[in-house]
Amino acid sequence: MARVRKGAGRPAPLRVLHVAAEWFPLVKTGGLADVVAALPAAQRAAGLDARLLLPAYPALRQALAGATEVARIGAAFGAARVALLRGTLPGSDVPTYLIDAPWLYDRPGNPYLGPDGQEWADTLQRFGLLGWTGAQLAAGGLDPDWAPAVVHAHDWHAALVPVYLAARGTAGTHARTVLTVHNLAYQGRFALERFGELGLPAWMAGPAGIEFHGTLRLLKGGLMFADRITTVSPTYAREILGPAEGHELDDVLRHRADRLTGIVNGIDDAVWNPAADPAIAAPYDATDLAGKAACKLALQRELGLAQVAGAPLLGVISRLTPQKGLDLLLSTLPQWLGAGGQVALVGSGDPALEHAWRAAAQAAPDAVGVRIGYDEALAHRVVAGSDLIGVPSRFEPCGLTQLYGLRYGSLPVVHRVGGLADTVVDADEEALREDRATGFAFAGASPEALARALRHALDGWHHPAAWKRVQRRAMAQDTSWRAPAARYAALYAEALAGP
Ligand code: ADP
Repeated sequence: MARVRKGAGRPAPLRVLHVAAEWFPLVKTGGLADVVAALPAAQRAAGLDARLLLPAYPALRQALAGATEVARIGAAFGAARVALLRGTLPGSDVPTYLIDAPWLYDRPGNPYLGPDGQEWADTLQRFGLLGWTGAQLAAGGLDPDWAPAVVHAHDWHAALVPVYLAARGTAGTHARTVLTVHNLAYQGRFALERFGELGLPAWMAGPAGIEFHGTLRLLKGGLMFADRITTVSPTYAREILGPAEGHELDDVLRHRADRLTGIVNGIDDAVWNPAADPAIAAPYDATDLAGKAACKLALQRELGLAQVAGAPLLGVISRLTPQKGLDLLLSTLPQWLGAGGQVALVGSGDPALEHAWRAAAQAAPDAVGVRIGYDEALAHRVVAGSDLIGVPSRFEPCGLTQLYGLRYGSLPVVHRVGGLADTVVDADEEALREDRATGFAFAGASPEALARALRHALDGWHHPAAWKRVQRRAMAQDTSWRAPAARYAALYAEALAGP
């Protein structure tokens, strides 16, 4: 009798390798880390063989369980000893490759800056090695047991993966490449004289390669050579084709517009779940919001705000950079406070903005609570305890905090751009009538437009029944990774089938 092999007939799962510079929670400076942790996990849950490639920063190297050496690479990019390890990271079932290169990665600080806040002098080598290793793995040259069919590179840090693969030419089979741009403002810019450090063919030092206006621009190289380009929302995908948001690369992007798609990020619904969030004062869900009121009082207490249930509390969790538009909020603060509003802000970044927000808190300590720094647990408490989440970004590729706001019934107040436009439905009359409204959106990055949106929110706040309806609609949105993971899977299939 013929023996039936277990699983015979089922197609082998699609092998995809994500290459990135950050991983939540151990190495995170922004939303990129969340995506890099959650998307491969969601893909595995959907049946793909998704894996990760990251630099062996100390926090990751120490946390890697079951580490085995899959390749000894030797000397590369100025490091005397480079090896490729494979294991898993805590709380994750995603097989993870770490590039063990102590000379380049075993140091304090974050992926881009030293503890003194200065950029690393050898950033080019650090991410040159990341891109090169991604390409070698993709070409089947490093792990004898595994090679991806699709290699998915994230941001400029990994943008050299398609470049190194293109440098190999068409000889041999290799993976298809997808490059996701999480924020076009960051492009990996270096002096052209350093081209030699990358070991790429000479022609790539020209306009057909990674040169751009007399400098190296790693992201531009990735945009030239990736088989598919994605960014993190459909609206941002359109915006970056024009000069206003194209950050000089709009021309390059227009040439590749037929390969560009926008896919909105999800959020990790296990980490961001008001019904089971260990960081918050009381759990709640859409059917019973009593816990949310307790979260608000606890947050007001924690930040030294007046404990008034009726005062609308606007939460902000953000990097403090001009992109995020929090200077607009500072300008409208007197009106918001004058109307009885409160603000809870956790953030860090530009010293001038940090100073201005500290000063705002000092001027009105019972209405403005500010914590300068990076605090994951406090971020959860701010999302849960606030009535509104403010995201007045000048531009926003996707944005995650408005998604947290939706999930926690804290209505987003957003500038209608990028992913903010794609994820928040303004509570105008029509949307309210059709029960589609999930927040408040304004057009134009001006203090006046933001002030109007806040007045609109205040109106809503004074109509509790309507407010609750919008809250429930917001909480009913699918902000999980399921739909985006399926969209990426469809894109991979298209990349494998198409040119
Ligand atoms: P960006 O990646 O541009 O910073 P996103 O909204 O996509 O913006 O992602 C920001 C992520 O970083 C969110 O997960 C947010 O909660 C988190 N975050 C930003 N600043 C802080 C902070 N000071 N403390 C805790 N979390 C923060």
